[in-house]
Formats: sequence, C-alpha cells, structure tokens
Amino acid sequence: MAATDIPFYQPAGDECEVFAHAWRQQLPVLIKGPTGCGKTRFVAHMAAQLGLPLFTVSCHDDLSAADLVGRHLIAGGDTRWCDGPLTQAVRAGGLCYLDEVVEARKDTTVVLHPLTDDRRMLPIERTGEVLQAPPGFMLVVSYNPGYQHVLKTLKPSTRQRFVALSFDFPRPEVECEVVRHEGGVDAELAWRLVRLGGQLRQLGGHDLDEGASTRLLVYAARLMASGMPARRACEVALAEPLSDEPDTLAALRAVIDTQF
Ligand code: ADP
Repeated sequence: MAATDIPFYQPAGDECEVFAHAWRQQLPVLIKGPTGCGKTRFVAHMAAQLGLPLFTVSCHDDLSAADLVGRHLIAGGDTRWCDGPLTQAVRAGGLCYLDEVVEARKDTTVVLHPLTDDRRMLPIERTGEVLQAPPGFMLVVSYNPGYQHVLKTLKPSTRQRFVALSFDFPRPEVECEVVRHEGGVDAELAWRLVRLGGQLRQLGGHDLDEGASTRLLVYAARLMASGMPARRACEVALAEPLSDEPDTLAALRAVIDTQF
C-alpha cells in the first residue's frame, strides 16, 4: 500500500509498535480512552500499515452475537447464509474493530472468548461451521472508561484476554500536529486552539462529562479554515456540543473569549 493511502495518525508514544508486536504474536488488543482522542483513526492507520482489511462495528445495546457472526436471510423465497462482520474478518484474515464493545449484548462474549485465546476459532452455531482464524486475523476492541457504570463494564474474564492500551487527549505538541494536519490551519492557529482545548478541559465545577475532544478542536479548525469567524467557530464546535446548561455554556464562552 502506498504511504499516501495510509490514514494520517500522529502517535503519542509507542502505541504503533505495541500494536504491531501484538499483531505479530496474534494477540487481541483493547484500547481505552475518551471519545474523539484518536482510537478509531489509530486502528484505521494500523490496519493500512499492516495491510489488513478492516471491519469496523460500532457497538450499541441491541448488538447481538448474530449481528457479529451472521444470519440466515430470506430473499425471494430462498434462505441463504450471510456472514456478519466478525466472520468476514476471520475469513479474510483481517482486522475486526469493535468500537464501544461494552455497549454490546452479553451474548457477544460467547463468540469473542474462543477467538481471543489460543484456540483462535469462531464457532458458527447456526451453520455448524467452526472457523480457524488465519494468522493475519486480529480482534481489537475499544471502550470509554468515562461512560462506565456497573452494568456496562467488561468482565475480568473478558478483559484479561487482551493486551490493553490506554489513550488520552494527546500532549500539546502532538495535538497541535493533529489539529494542523486535520484542520487545515497553520501552526500558530493550531496552537491557539490546543491551548484553548487545554483550558476548556480544566474547567471544573460544571456539569461537563468530558472536556473538548481532539475531534472537536479539529472541527473548530476546519470551520475557521473555511472562513468562519474564530469566535463563532469555537462556539459551535467547542461550547455547544459539550453542554445544554446555560451556566456551563456561559463559562465555556468566557474561556473562548480569552483566546479569540
Ligand atoms: P475516537 O475513536 O477515539 O472517538 P477518532 O479516532 O474518531 O476518535 O478521532 C477523531 C478525530 O480526531 C479523527 O478523525 C482525527 O481527525 C482526529 N485525531 C485525533 N487524534 C488523532 C491522532 N493522534 N492522529 C491523527 N488524527 C487524530
């Protein structure tokens, strides 16, 4: 694959090396971190880097094992089997990425467990097939520990099957590179946005679940690159998405006003 086809990813540390080692050793990887900090981009980058087809599933509370493995579909009176994304990834020897895996229904662990230990197999109950995952196959899951509550967490028996990487908002030099590259703005503007992001994240005492993500800083940069006045761009990208509370919004706007 040409380098230009590889999605841009600015590393924060040795995560690319850890991931490549895990893949070579056929170990599954768990990525934890807040929303919009680069988890999905990292996985897309690594899949392209390693030359693996990528099958991404955004998990939700209705997602079942059948959604991952596949199901029989009825078309024109015929019944035919249709592989789900996990099965497709196993057959193709690719990378299956389950985003926000803790949201998925508990029955999904039944199919994930035999794939994440040294058996590396996927039993397809409905067809009676048992697939042996080829060496290229890798399972990667992510979740946001900030959203956790007691009912939505990974059981130790599941999480202890993964090599785990912790992601967080990148340090300023790294985030500046991301905002510059992804937002299409110059380094000076990128720095101002990153500084502002840091200040917004420090805003305590308000009903903010999470601070402004790197993704939102990129949005603000893109709106500015498209010609939107800086203050308005920050308001719609860095204040409004974070809260509905008038007091909190006023506090966010006050911080924005100190930078733009
Ligand atoms: P997550 O999966 O953690 O919610 P994403 O990977 O979708 O977050 O990141 C959101 C956006 O932020 C990406 O589309 C990209 O523009 C940008 N981004 C964040 N971190 C990085 C990074 N380290 N390198 C490149 N882009 C990044």
